[in-house]
Amino acid sequence: GASVGIALYPAHASNAKELLSHADLALYKAKSNGRNGACFFDSELKSRQLHRQSLEAELREAIPAEQLDLFYQPIVTAEAGETVSYEALMRWNHPRRGLLPPGEFIQIAEDAGLMGELGNWAIRRACRQAALLPPHISVAVNVSPNQFLTSGIVQAVDQALASSRLDPARLTLEVTENVFLSGETIASRVINDLLGLGVKLALDDFGTGFSSLSYLQRYAFSKVKIDRSFVADVEHKPKNLAIIRTIVRLGADLGMEVVAEGIETEAQAAMLRAEGCGFLQGYLYGRPRPFLDITADSAVHNLRDVLPNSTGTAKFSTPLKRTVHNSL
Ligand code: C2E
Ligand code: MG
Ligand code: MG
Repeated sequence: GASVGIALYPAHASNAKELLSHADLALYKAKSNGRNGACFFDSELKSRQLHRQSLEAELREAIPAEQLDLFYQPIVTAEAGETVSYEALMRWNHPRRGLLPPGEFIQIAEDAGLMGELGNWAIRRACRQAALLPPHISVAVNVSPNQFLTSGIVQAVDQALASSRLDPARLTLEVTENVFLSGETIASRVINDLLGLGVKLALDDFGTGFSSLSYLQRYAFSKVKIDRSFVADVEHKPKNLAIIRTIVRLGADLGMEVVAEGIETEAQAAMLRAEGCGFLQGYLYGRPRPFLDITADSAVHNLRDVLPNSTGTAKFSTPLKRTVHNSL
């Protein structure tokens, strides 16, 4: 098989170097379209590349400039609707582009080799903040495949737990099946080392990848998360319901908690509850919000010890909030 990228002179470039580089961009597109095809260069390819390049450069500055943040979304019990944990979701407070969701920068960070640094920052921050929440609340942090396999995650988690003094059982790491893609040897070692630290593992977005049952059988995942795509429209799609029912049953039989993602309506919640799914997460129960907002509803433990002269989160002024936020 072969992929071909095509750029034309003089329509697409004014010199040989630019012509080759534009043909290369077209080639990249041909490959990402599934290979064995040909693509012509167009100006949109160029602007997308420039966008990526500038985001990548800006991303390198984002951690030292304290532009990254974690938002928290509640995970509730299906029966009583009680919050038992929060999923930490990364946000980038970009000085010009505004608040960016992970979809706009995680892949760029992965490709640029920055995900280890970003992800380990998220683990440290989440542990520190989780330690301020009531002890019955746990926190889940997403871990990308590269970060999992190449960035010393075991050491990062160990250090984050030690410096925050968070009970390891209150930390869940969410991974997708992609961690197994480049061979199971490293993945299984990392998994065992992490379990040795006492943290929990969740298999995220279950049902969308290989959905290999042998991973569930072989590794001690405490939780499996049903992907949002099965929950959407479950009221009208019997096939979605069949898949959900199977995952819930499997979770119960293998002794794993099952969390359904993307619950937006009461009807969806009622159906998941009727199927016996133990935990629900979605806009119906709360969107991802800044840490200081969730502390308002979950009776923060020792925030007062950490922040001298403060009486409660609700009364913080904006500049104070910012100081507090950066100190967390
Ligand atoms: P995920 O781990 O599957 O997270 C769930 C995503 O679904 C979040 O998107 C959340 O905001 C969104 N969501 C939750 N409930 C609903 C709902 O009811 N309706 C709809 N339409 N969406 C809902 P978000 O925050 O944009 O994150 C997207 C993905 O980015 C995450 O998917 C996760 O894979 C990745 N990600 C987020 N934070 C981190 C991080 O710190 N490290 C790494 N490696 N990946 C992260
Ligand atoms: Mg997740
Ligand atoms: Mg997910």
